[in-house]
Amino acid sequence: MDGAMPPKLVIILPCYNEQGVLIQTVPVIFAQLNTLIKNQTIAANSCLLLVDDGSRDGTWSEIEKLSHMLPENLSALKLTRNFGHQNAVYAGMSYAREYLNADMCISMDCDLQDDPKILPQMVAKYLDGYEIVYGVRSSRAKDTAAKRGFAEFYYKILGILRIETVPNHADYRLLGSKALKALTQFEESNLYLRGIVPLLGYSSTKIYYERDERAAGYSKYDVLRMVRLAVNGICSFSSAPLMFILWLGMFVSLCSLAMAAWAVGVKLFGDGSVPGWASIVVPMTFLGGIQLFTLGVMGIYVGKIFDEVKHRPKYLIEKEL
Ligand code: UDP
Ligand code: MG
Repeated sequence: MDGAMPPKLVIILPCYNEQGVLIQTVPVIFAQLNTLIKNQTIAANSCLLLVDDGSRDGTWSEIEKLSHMLPENLSALKLTRNFGHQNAVYAGMSYAREYLNADMCISMDCDLQDDPKILPQMVAKYLDGYEIVYGVRSSRAKDTAAKRGFAEFYYKILGILRIETVPNHADYRLLGSKALKALTQFEESNLYLRGIVPLLGYSSTKIYYERDERAAGYSKYDVLRMVRLAVNGICSFSSAPLMFILWLGMFVSLCSLAMAAWAVGVKLFGDGSVPGWASIVVPMTFLGGIQLFTLGVMGIYVGKIFDEVKHRPKYLIEKEL
């Protein structure tokens, strides 16, 4: 690339109620950006893009303060309300591509859990020709046993369903402009970026890092949000659960046929003893459970179809900096 302009990097930081953490994290991430600019690895107008995902605390005024400190290298978006982490990242990526003319962007948590020290390695991989660079956790030692167990179980299920994801990669990743453009062609409103990005098919590589604890504040992913994301990850990329219901239904029907045959057998050849309470109540509750379960799974898919046909915007911007 002799003589060519170095590429422009935009680092996207989604923020939801992160008032306390930004003053610690932004200088650290900016220091990495600045080194890359000074080395002329990336363009001088490369920047951080903070996306305020409808915070209800003082996050936006904190962002305004920071933008006075780094007027050249900080852009910000304020979404009209809380659209959720995935949509906030997507908003940042669309904005980086359309309005900031980014050649590449990197999304990361704004709490320093995604180690900024590997930023230069990610950019180096992009310069080597990779369109996608995944930040992958080298260990889950810092997670609680429950979260670790849940993650392992989840990746197993994804594997069985043949849903392609990168294990232990969250949303710390670099995308080149080609991948960014391709991503905007996916119009689904149930966004699960970890599932969509591998579908893009561009050349990709991984960089391992040690995931740290949060610099300040608390995790915005409570159990409910985690489960919702996990269900989305499965049901947006596989209809296997519907198939599973079909098999389950067939299995249960076969069982009941066998039971009917058994009952006839007892009537004809048996000693006529009356089958007990358990043989009535157990199948009844068992079948009731299965019916509710299958209805629930179908409900998830119907709900998704409902979301998609409405074609609502994934995010709305209130203000820009
Ligand atoms: N986040 C967001 N919108 C939300 C929830 C979270 O923009 O509705 C941001 C949050 O500010 C953080 C990132 O997404 O920068 C990841 O969230 P968090 O760190 O709370 O999750 P964890 O790392 O604990 O899984
Ligand atoms: Mg975090």
